[in-house]
Amino acid sequence: MNLRPEGNWHFEDAPPPEELLNCMRCGMCLPACPTYQLTGREQSSPRGRIALMRAVSEGDMQLDSSVLAEELDFCLGCLACTTACPAGVDYGSLLEAGRDQLARRRLAWWQKLPFKLFEGPGRLRVLARLLWLYQKSGLARAVRFSGLLRALRLQEAESMLPPVPFHSSYDTLVGEHPAYGRERKRVGMLLGCVMDVLFVEENLATVEVLRRNGCTVVVPPSQGCCGALHAHSGQLPTARKLAARLTEAFQGCELVAVNSAGCGACMKHHCQGLQARDVHELLVELGWQRPERPLSGRFTYHDACHLAHGQGVTAPPREIMRGLATELVELPRADRCCGSAGIYNLTHPETAGELLEDKLNAIESTGAEVVGVANPGCLLQIRQGLRLRGGRVRAEHPMVLLARAYRATGR
Ligand code: SF4
Ligand code: SF4
Repeated sequence: MNLRPEGNWHFEDAPPPEELLNCMRCGMCLPACPTYQLTGREQSSPRGRIALMRAVSEGDMQLDSSVLAEELDFCLGCLACTTACPAGVDYGSLLEAGRDQLARRRLAWWQKLPFKLFEGPGRLRVLARLLWLYQKSGLARAVRFSGLLRALRLQEAESMLPPVPFHSSYDTLVGEHPAYGRERKRVGMLLGCVMDVLFVEENLATVEVLRRNGCTVVVPPSQGCCGALHAHSGQLPTARKLAARLTEAFQGCELVAVNSAGCGACMKHHCQGLQARDVHELLVELGWQRPERPLSGRFTYHDACHLAHGQGVTAPPREIMRGLATELVELPRADRCCGSAGIYNLTHPETAGELLEDKLNAIESTGAEVVGVANPGCLLQIRQGLRLRGGRVRAEHPMVLLARAYRATGR
């Protein structure tokens, strides 16, 4: 860890100069970068952003330069550049460190308030109950009609909100769930924060799939947020604090299964001493049981950035999708960002919208009825897009599909 400010960086943990120097300026990452593809601007490419950070390190640019802030904000953090880079530049860590420097300078206390919701155990569950009430009471319709959402610039966020369940997955799943039959493995399970309150079916299905594959699943009550949203928005000290707390909560678990791509990537990076595994990766390692009768229909699969590029996990979800469906077709540019990217779809709706349109066109071009998606942000974004188009395509987490296939064959 680099603890000394370098050049014009103002705080500790600046982007390490040796990592910045690893970039040999070959440009191999440019065709993979969505923001470069959309703009054609060098400064909106990975190479350009690294050059901007290097200029600050070498004292040729000030930390308060607007171009630096704009380009680090405009980056999706999709990490497609890291997969493409032959020199192995750790762009993700550079971006986190660069954003952290900017955030310490310019983020006011009130701008950090929304993030506080993720920091205390149970805060998001309280909010979810209020949202449930908001949706059920008819207040939602009145508020939409009043124009208040538009005035508060919350229209986009509210329109993406799916029906909020009354019970979180925490309410149902905390505790230990024995394997069906002989125990092959004992694993911890992350419920997540957004997954916990908005994707209850997905968490229940993940536990069911693991149990059917011989895992005893342990869900510790003291677990909280992994800190991914904080790390992506440049709040590294808080992200590290949350990661340390999560590591503590899973002490005694040999492995921790994760069904959210963003959380898995963050945990592998920040939870030192914890063996986090994406659930598809874990099932393939274990030698998973294929359902006797796959689900019928044409399916396709979208690579969440933080699964494909953040964790290098692309083959295991495809193996599972191929086993659970009668037909799996490859999605064109499956590993291109859908525009969700944490809260990017709220901060940069136009760019996110363009990327979403491309993703929806690609999905429709396959003729698939179902697209497998293993990340909560992508699920919200793609489902919203599919809903607005009004077609018959559904976006589902592969664990929900697999649990359904098992149940259909009585396994
Ligand atoms: S993270 Fe994505 S948007 Fe950002 S520089 Fe890399 S490829 Fe481009
Ligand atoms: S591919 Fe890697 S080394 Fe080449 S320009 Fe991009 S970040 Fe630098």
